[in-house]
Amino acid sequence: MLALDGGTRLVPEGAVAPWPHIVDADRKAVLDALDAATPWHWPMRAVRELEEAWGEYTSMPYVLAANSGTAALHMAIAAAGVEPGDEVLVPADTFLASASCVLQANAIPVFVDTDIDTFALDPALIEERITSRTRAIIAVDLNGLPADHDALAAVAERHGLTLIEDAAQAHGATYRGRPVGSLGAMSGASLNGSKTLSALGEGGLFATRDEEQFKLARRVLMFGEELPGQGRDYNARIMGWNYRIDVLAAAFARSQLARLPEMTRAREANGAALTAALAGVPGIRPPVVPADRTHVYFFYPLLVMPEELGLDPADVPVEAFRDALEEAVNAEGLGIMRWQPRPVPAQTLFQDLRGYGRGCPWTCGHAAPGHAYRPEEYPVSEEICRRRLVLGQSFSSLGPPNDEGTMRLFADVFHKVLVEERDALLALARRRAAEAP
Ligand SMILES: *Cc1c(COP(=O)(O)O)cnc(C)c1O
Repeated sequence: MLALDGGTRLVPEGAVAPWPHIVDADRKAVLDALDAATPWHWPMRAVRELEEAWGEYTSMPYVLAANSGTAALHMAIAAAGVEPGDEVLVPADTFLASASCVLQANAIPVFVDTDIDTFALDPALIEERITSRTRAIIAVDLNGLPADHDALAAVAERHGLTLIEDAAQAHGATYRGRPVGSLGAMSGASLNGSKTLSALGEGGLFATRDEEQFKLARRVLMFGEELPGQGRDYNARIMGWNYRIDVLAAAFARSQLARLPEMTRAREANGAALTAALAGVPGIRPPVVPADRTHVYFFYPLLVMPEELGLDPADVPVEAFRDALEEAVNAEGLGIMRWQPRPVPAQTLFQDLRGYGRGCPWTCGHAAPGHAYRPEEYPVSEEICRRRLVLGQSFSSLGPPNDEGTMRLFADVFHKVLVEERDALLALARRRAAEAP
């Protein structure tokens, strides 16, 4: 019987380890940073070590640690020379920060639909969105899978655009043998506690190959000041922020980064094991991993496919099936969720165009007139948001110490809910459909 209907839950309390996975080396690293951090002097050793280690891991020569992925992406946008009214291409299905970093520079995000297999920008749809104001493309490695960066780089080169990688969900993954964080001209990564490289609290990493971009990004990071090396002159050159990372967060992330290769191998093995174990379960489509890249499963996305069960959509709509599945799986003790219910351009910010107030940056005088965001222009992203449920992150982590045994437990839940107890699930879905407004 489904746990939802009073049966025994399949996943016992405590069977799935949370993310991040904290070991004694992490505790020691944080305590060492605590002891080394006085007198206060920027940047502290833990921060420099984190920057050096990320530079080494990605082979990017210039790295800056920041206090969030959002900040690192804003630094990249500014370093690309994006100015008010300029346009930046962004995938329609991503986290808000991939687009709001553009607004932070008073520039205009222009959304492009995504690919149903990779959940990333569809390179074939980019060119029709390019105008004389387009300056950059933000390629997001969503869920833990790199976008098709070579195809995107070719378009960027043809049109003189800067390719920026939003690496916030995919540290550790590779594309054609190259690591995430190095796949664009610049990258912004997040160290938010839930991410595959975690600062436990908040943090971010900016990386570039270009010294000028590095200097521009550093101005944004620290009050708009120039930092010549021998101390500060307290003279802001441009509009800047305080995006410095907390030293204890940096120390924790540095310690985790030392184990990133090992943690990545565990994630890859877990994802492959879960996909293999779900092979015979109808009604859900596991993630696709193209042969030229690896997946690190920050999210393990599932697209619900009630059609595979021979259901009539008039009887059980996709939405009701999805919600019933989510409810039933969660009741079995496995954390699953919808993540974002709509593409980013369908969020109120882009529907109301209020922005900073008075409609800026859309109405500030530099932008092309008449920008509007129509959700129907992103049909694939809409379809993904309609059908997607995700495992992963902190609540049903594919990261270590969870292992192939844990993945079998995950798969058992889907087998129970979608095969053994299918009639109960469908009854629930029909009830939910009847209740829907
Ligand atoms: C988490 C995330 C960000 C923002 O990172 P923060 O550290 O939370 O500011 C940006 N883009 C994507 C795709 C993310 O998942």
